[in-house]
Amino acid sequence: MPDVTKDQVIERLRGVAGPDGTSDVISLGLVSDVLVSDGKVMFSITVPAEQAASLEPLRAAADAAVREIPGVESAMVVLTAEKKGGGPPTGAARQPPGSRFTGPDPRGEPPSRGKAGIPGVDAIIAVASGKGGVGKSTTAVNLALAFQANGLKAGILDADIYGPSLPRLLNLRDQKPEIVGGRTLKPLRAYDVEAMSIGFLVEEETPMIWRGPMVISALNQMMREVQWGSLDVMVVDMPPGTGDAQLTMAQQVPLAGAVIVSTPQDLALIDARKGLAMFQRVDVPVLGIVENMSYFLCPHCGERTDIFSHGGARDEAQLLGVPFLGEVPLDLEIRLTSDAGTPIVAADPDSPYAIAYRDIATRAWEGVERERSEGGRPPPRIVIEE
Ligand code: ADP
Repeated sequence: MPDVTKDQVIERLRGVAGPDGTSDVISLGLVSDVLVSDGKVMFSITVPAEQAASLEPLRAAADAAVREIPGVESAMVVLTAEKKGGGPPTGAARQPPGSRFTGPDPRGEPPSRGKAGIPGVDAIIAVASGKGGVGKSTTAVNLALAFQANGLKAGILDADIYGPSLPRLLNLRDQKPEIVGGRTLKPLRAYDVEAMSIGFLVEEETPMIWRGPMVISALNQMMREVQWGSLDVMVVDMPPGTGDAQLTMAQQVPLAGAVIVSTPQDLALIDARKGLAMFQRVDVPVLGIVENMSYFLCPHCGERTDIFSHGGARDEAQLLGVPFLGEVPLDLEIRLTSDAGTPIVAADPDSPYAIAYRDIATRAWEGVERERSEGGRPPPRIVIEE
């Protein structure tokens, strides 16, 4: 079979009409990030944000066109769009008529037990937050490294497809995953942890709008068409928020449990509560809450300051009857290492921060084991008969 070339892909896409119905997607300059390797083709099509929801047929047509090229075994085509404002589009998980997505209705059917797992992966743990900017991704990455430091084989999947941050957090910005066997992607590796992110496939700066079905198909590909090694635990960095898209993902991914990241402010806790309710609704055990940016430890005098009335998450966890997994201080070192792609658990494994993350990982793993042994049921009550 001849090797498929990028030029062949581009040539073929000249036959695919753009959103205006007259010019083709190549002439309109909409196609980018074309990656061809071993018969596997990946590229993105930029579309107007307001049309993102109605352009699945365009994506499907481009997908079908490249699959007709002799030698193409599979294709991954994503729609990207200018994002207006922050956060995911509203109604992202709503299914349009004629959608090829056949998964459960995110708001209808009760969650299905027995979702297909990922071969070789023992437990999948979601790291979620009610809103953005609370340090969810930083926590997810350090947690994955902490699991690894605790002796578990760990991987991390960046499912935050609205704003993938793993390329930056693990300093993998210039690397693309290798394609193996024409069918699957090889995860990248950093600090001995396997990592996969949509950000490895499209430019990190490209803002993206995804419809629910696209989210699910991209996520499924990242879970199932990636050659994950044998892992004890896979940490999934979820997109922020608790909308339909997140709910759908919580339903689709066979999760062993969820970790909720929150800052101590009340507002964030209200959001965290929504996150909690979302996982409970889809029957995913909440392993606990992490309080991030909990307090400030002065690097000069060592004095501790509770900037955001620290302790809110611990009280809230108790009130809600979920475990409190631990607190991580607000610290410049955490921000600097995180933004430099050298997370603190790897960069300074003996620091108090690395130890805090490892303790959180220990408690989260205890939660997974507890859920497994008890099947998620509350412990039996002792009834004293008179
Ligand atoms: P999210 O995933 O919730 O949007 P990020 O993990 O991207 O949040 O964190 C947002 C910013 O806050 C980043 O610049 C990160 O380095 C910083 N950050 C996260 N946690 C801490 C912390 N404990 N101390 C200091 N900076 C932090």
